[in-house]
Amino acid sequence: MSDEDQGGWTRVRSRLRAEVGDDVYSSWFARMDLEAIEEGTVRLSVPTRFLKSWIQNHYAERVLACWQAEDNKIGRIELTVRSAVLKSTVAPKPRPEIAAGVNDGSNRYNGNSSGRAMSVGDPGVHEALGGSPLDARLSFDSFVIGRSNTLAHAAAKQVAAARRTDPVMFNPLYIHAGVGLGKTHLLQAITWAGNAAGERKVLYLTAEKFMYGFVSALRTQTALAFKEALRGIGVLVIDDLQFLQGKSTQAEFCHTLNALIDAGRQVVIASDRPPSDLESLDDRVRSRLAGGLVVEMGSLGEELRLEILKVRVLAARAYHPTFDVPLPVLAYIAKTVTHNGRDLEGALNRLLAHNKLTGHPVTLEMAEREVRDLIRPQEPKRVKIEDIQRVVARQYNVSRSDLLSSRRTANVVRPRQVAMYLAKTLTLRSLPEIGRRFGGRDHTTVLHAVRKIEGLVGNDMSLAEEIELLKRQLQE
Ligand code: ADP
Ligand code: MG
Repeated sequence: MSDEDQGGWTRVRSRLRAEVGDDVYSSWFARMDLEAIEEGTVRLSVPTRFLKSWIQNHYAERVLACWQAEDNKIGRIELTVRSAVLKSTVAPKPRPEIAAGVNDGSNRYNGNSSGRAMSVGDPGVHEALGGSPLDARLSFDSFVIGRSNTLAHAAAKQVAAARRTDPVMFNPLYIHAGVGLGKTHLLQAITWAGNAAGERKVLYLTAEKFMYGFVSALRTQTALAFKEALRGIGVLVIDDLQFLQGKSTQAEFCHTLNALIDAGRQVVIASDRPPSDLESLDDRVRSRLAGGLVVEMGSLGEELRLEILKVRVLAARAYHPTFDVPLPVLAYIAKTVTHNGRDLEGALNRLLAHNKLTGHPVTLEMAEREVRDLIRPQEPKRVKIEDIQRVVARQYNVSRSDLLSSRRTANVVRPRQVAMYLAKTLTLRSLPEIGRRFGGRDHTTVLHAVRKIEGLVGNDMSLAEEIELLKRQLQE
């Protein structure tokens, strides 16, 4: 290839970067290479099929236009997937798999020439629609499947692959799990894959974005383009639903949810708790949420953590080819950094930074030093109110329905107070929520119970011990 071609390519790249912005550029185009220019056709290559189809579906005309601005004899772009091993100089001529051409003879780029409607899959457009920013690394390819997430993963795959005409199998799909266990990863994977498949447009929103962008856009009658686009959304994905707050937002949410579900559109939701524990949502929404498929993702087991680390190291190598982490170091991190996926990522980032800055290879000693503060004792188990009720009822030889009933005999009142006290101290639930879960009691009743027990344990050693024992049982 001539120096002149390479120079042109460099200018095309900077033009493209200026047009799409740094983020989009580095997500999609950073690894695009020029293979050849022949007779008005530019041949470009990218490392994966996914990148190819993404660029082809969303940026083909953009790329062509940038070339045409550089050289008006260019009429076509061909995009190929380059093999990981063979370099283009020795590779056989890449098979042209796509041809994004505007061969109307005029050689002028016309933004509407394809007649394609704007696509939610385009990160820029996705955001303009009120969609939350997406992280290109959070794909199905980089999601590791293990015992704790098999079902959630399968359901997510199914949603991403479903076609417009397929009957909706479960709606909504509701995934819940603690922090750092892969909810956002899975939801964004659905968004990427769904949009790349091009069958149904997928819009990904955090609950926050839903509250401040989406809802206000829904309310302003002038946001016509927005409404038009909303109509075209096949899958609405909402992350961190526990943050949805405010009566009117919830009303909008309920309305949107019902409208989408009734129209046969897929809704996917992630939250840190099951629908029954979503405080302050009204009962109708709660039951609608519980009416689809509710899947919990458990904590990442050691095996799964190790696999995640391996995938991460490979991904990091794409940018830092010399980064090497010996298996014993990975095993050590997988064993000791138990918290969640975020800490695993943090641990690897430190090793990478250390390795880059000092040039020292990654060793076990270095890993022990670098990740020391990420090693914490086992995270306390998430205690559920049902479990508290069950364990307390068993301890005091009453039934769970006694605890929820309005009976006021002494043999039920004390266990009930103990259970409410434990619910307050062992979970993050609010007083009104606890009241609701104890047969629809008022929050002042719960507060009274909590104070009562607090007062008693100060003086009554045997009660204090009993409660200590119950706590230990629940947290095991
Ligand atoms: P959540 O939204 O549940 O708090 P995230 O999806 O943000 O958690 O995950 C936290 C980190 O852990 C991310 O870097 C994510 O890529 C990683 N992670 C979690 N689960 C997996 C998994 N099964 N495979 C690969 N990476 C994972
Ligand atoms: Mg998240």
